[in-house]
Formats: sequence, C-alpha cells, structure tokens
Amino acid sequence: MTANPEPSPEIDMTTLAPSPTVVRRPEIGVAQTRVVEADAPVKMKMHDVSIWYGEKRAVRDVTLDVASNAVTAFIGPSGCGKSTILRCFDRMNDLIPTARVQGSVTLDGQEINDAAVPAVEIRRRVGLVFQRPNPFPMSIYENVAYGPRRQGIKDRRTLDEIVERSLRRAAIWDEVKDEFRKKSGLSLSGGQQQRLCIARTLATDPEVILMDEPASSLDPIATLRIEELMAELRSNYTIVIVTHNMQQASRVSDFTAFFTLGEDRAGYLAEMDATARIFTNPKERVTEDYVSGRFG
Ligand code: ADP
Repeated sequence: MTANPEPSPEIDMTTLAPSPTVVRRPEIGVAQTRVVEADAPVKMKMHDVSIWYGEKRAVRDVTLDVASNAVTAFIGPSGCGKSTILRCFDRMNDLIPTARVQGSVTLDGQEINDAAVPAVEIRRRVGLVFQRPNPFPMSIYENVAYGPRRQGIKDRRTLDEIVERSLRRAAIWDEVKDEFRKKSGLSLSGGQQQRLCIARTLATDPEVILMDEPASSLDPIATLRIEELMAELRSNYTIVIVTHNMQQASRVSDFTAFFTLGEDRAGYLAEMDATARIFTNPKERVTEDYVSGRFG
C-alpha cells in the first residue's frame, strides 16, 4: 500500500477496545523489526541503530523505514528515545559530545554516517523543526533568508523569491506579507513563530523535514494550523514527527512507529505500521496497551 494521500481520519482513543486478535505478548525488551508497507517508496532507512549517552544505552537496535512523501509519527512514553532517534536522521547527535551512534542510516540509499559525508550537506537535505519556536532576533525576511545566504545565495531577487515562496508554503505569507521586511520574527505569536521556523527550514530546500513535538508549546488553534500545514507539505516532502499526543499522530500521520522502554531501560521499536492499524488493530500487546491508555 502506498501512503494515503488523504489526512488520516481522527480516531477517538476513548472508544478503542482491546483487539481480540492480539493475543501474543512479546518478550518485553526484544527488538521488533518492522518496515513500512513493502511497496511504499522509502526515503530514509535506519538499520540496527543503537545510541549511547556515555555509558548509558538510550536506544537499542532500531530498524525502520521512512516512506517518501508521507508523514511518519514517532510515539511512545517519555524517555524512550524518540527525539534521540529523530536526531539520527540529520546527524544532530554529532553535536552532543557524549552521544555515540552505531548502525546504519541511509538517505536515498546513501549512508549518512559515513565520515566522508559532510554533516552540513545532510542537514541541508534533512531539516529539523524544534519543539519550541526559535526565530532569530531579526526580521521575518532575514529569518527565512538566513539559510540561503549561508548557502552563498546573494542575489537580492533570488532571495526575495525564496523568502516569499517559503512563507507561502509555510502558510504564513498572508499574515505577514505587509510587514515581513521590517517586523521582527520575535514579535509574532507562538504559532506564527513556529510556522516562520518551518518557512526557515523550507528555505534551504530540504527533502525531509523532522519535527520534534512542533506543536507542544502551542494553543489548540495554532496546533491545528501546524497539523493542516503538515498535511499540505506531505505531497512535496517526507515528514517525521515526534509527538506525545496520540490523537495528533492519528490525525496527521500515514505511518506510526511505537517505541517503548525495554527491561534494560533502553528504548526500542515495539511496532511500526500504517497509522490506522497501530490505533485500531496493533500486532503487539505492548502497543495495544499504550494506545488504549493502559500503559505509559
Ligand atoms: P523521548 O524523546 O522519547 O522523550 P529522549 O530521546 O529525549 O526520549 O531521551 C531518551 C533517553 O536519553 C532518556 O533517558 C534521556 O534522559 C537520555 N538523553 C537524552 N538526551 C540526552 C543528552 N543530551 N545527554 C544524556 N542523556 C540524554
């Protein structure tokens, strides 16, 4: 099955009953390897990835595929390594001195952990949107032009085009078009700031967008705008989102990866599947317990 082009239907978690078809309890802590649908085009792959912070193993043996032009959600209890795993996709763990990543991560089949591959090139192709909006203390225009300027683009007209296109794609153009050259990015509301940060990410023309709980600091209306934006961006970008909010995962994503903690306190991938199946008919008991609110 290819990625569903329509937003996933909202699922009311409170009505989910335990599935009678799920009878097997996996040995807790055994890595479960799940890939997305066999024929879905894959943008990124992670194979046998383990991550340590100093001596502590935070993540164990994660193998998963990220489908192209789809939204993949990472869910699971706090501390099970979702953000740590997300950061592997653009080598942001390189910036944490104690972090050590073992295993393979590929982008279009190319190994990104290869020392010969510049991390800056990976981060151009794989953009990251942080949990808290973090506009730079400069104009809206300069926020968006920042990345392209660093890539060496100096021509004013080219920059103008990139800024406008990025603000349009991030669904904030109409709100700022009259004053974006002068107005500070910091003067926007929280939701607008997050869309500005998404525009800033889009300006460097990434292929993959990673979002680490992008709406967790926003009110419900601003959250809805971000979710609508994800649905729009999915046709042109591959998106991976970490979210604590299961309703959000069920609304926005095509595929869901459920992580949990093993007995050794390292996070592992318990199950990955099409989002509708994870929330209605998961294969693993541990997933069912989590999505039905009995655990985590
Ligand atoms: P999640 O996103 O699922 O909440 P994290 O990836 O943030 O989980 O964290 C996974 C584990 O790694 C936790 O035990 C956390 O304390 C630890 N951890 C995360 N970041 C760091 C860091 N920079 N240094 C040391 N330990 C970290």
